[in-house]
Amino acid sequence: MTTLRSGSATHVGQVRSNNQDSFLVLAEADLFGVADGMGGHNGGEVASAMAVEHLREHAGEPSLENLQQAARIGNRAIFEKAGAEADLHGMGTTLCAVRVVPGPEGDEIAWINVGDSRVYLFRDDSLIQLSRDHSLVEDLLRDGQLTEDEAKVHPKRNIITRALGIDVDVDVDGSTVIPFNGDRFLLCSDGLFGEVTGDQISSVLRRLAEPTEAAEELVRLANESGGRDNITVVLVEVVDDDGRSAAASAALAKDESTLASRQDPTVVGDDADTRPVGEAGEPGETGTAYVPVFADRKSSLPDAPDFASEGDESDDLFGGLDHQRSKRVTWRVVVFIVALLAVVGVVLGAIVWTGNNTYYVAFDGRNVAIYQGKPGGVLWIEPKLVQTTDITRSELPEDVRGAVAANKEFSSEGAATRYVVTLQAVVDKQADATSTTTSSTTTTRPVTTTTAAGAVTTTAPATPTTTAP
Ligand code: CA
Repeated sequence: MTTLRSGSATHVGQVRSNNQDSFLVLAEADLFGVADGMGGHNGGEVASAMAVEHLREHAGEPSLENLQQAARIGNRAIFEKAGAEADLHGMGTTLCAVRVVPGPEGDEIAWINVGDSRVYLFRDDSLIQLSRDHSLVEDLLRDGQLTEDEAKVHPKRNIITRALGIDVDVDVDGSTVIPFNGDRFLLCSDGLFGEVTGDQISSVLRRLAEPTEAAEELVRLANESGGRDNITVVLVEVVDDDGRSAAASAALAKDESTLASRQDPTVVGDDADTRPVGEAGEPGETGTAYVPVFADRKSSLPDAPDFASEGDESDDLFGGLDHQRSKRVTWRVVVFIVALLAVVGVVLGAIVWTGNNTYYVAFDGRNVAIYQGKPGGVLWIEPKLVQTTDITRSELPEDVRGAVAANKEFSSEGAATRYVVTLQAVVDKQADATSTTTSSTTTTRPVTTTTAAGAVTTTAPATPTTTAP
């Protein structure tokens, strides 16, 4: 069973008078959500509270489809209430959520999203945005009409192209991720990432182990950077993935046990000079590998008295002694050479081990690839191409592209593979959304949204907004 721990924090910010964000932490159901409401008067608060309440009530049996259905039920309820009460007319809300759901090969984490709140995955020191914003600037970014920097300061960055409560039906994005120990799923409203950079978020997630502490620190940073909007953070961490991480590194563990047995002093033989050493480079390891070689070589050679008795059989007593002495000299030379080879072997082993037991993800031409070794190589050991993937440079979000271009390093092939799987999930998600958008027959409709100043705006989205559920 997958075990999670979580922390959360929310704050009105430095400018707004009320907090229109709502969130849900339902640990007993492994269900977590964040909603960011909009609409004058109390509309935003009502809409976001309704979204998380319907999520809690209607999530049903754990599945991605049920999560999406709960969001659609919430959408209908908010839409009807907005139509029925003049005060609440035009209210709407974002909603993002995650939940543990059963998958074909064990538990998975399902996530859903409508609007511009975000679901991030922090894994292997990388922050990856799983959800795609349904916002005007995101559409412009995707069409190449804006750069990331321009998007951050775009005057219409608060206009969203999809929300709960705006129309009778809504498309809910969603997907699943296979969880591993240490994965951290970050759900947040735009009050966080509008103020705090991805690097700052990563730094906090890296530094603070306790989820509540990390959530509170993120909110504090957003306030420190201006706090121009309500800020909500829910942080969910995988503390037990039901042995999946262990299974994923089984191949590596097998390699290590092979190394350990070869290190056993009782099996050290003539191949001592080529023997790899598991935890190479440690002074203690050098000692243990060195000493048994003496012991073994000694026990495998005839004892000195045997030499003497051989000598006794000789006619020439002194010739026998000389013979014995020369044999002893030869014996010492052999031991010395073997010991020397053992030391050289340990050093070579350390270099070979470092060259072979590190991995990195980089671009092989335009494709993402996994390499074995160190970027640039270690002495004479060049990195080896392990696998070239179908993921291309242009498909990756800009922040991820940068990480891959900088040769992202991992301590095992399993960790590198998991990273690539995550990249593939992000790319697939984008591809699905793009292909559905371009082939969609849904006509563009005006979407009523709210700007940072709180004014209700009606805008035609730049592109059709319908995507597959
Ligand atoms: Ca907001």
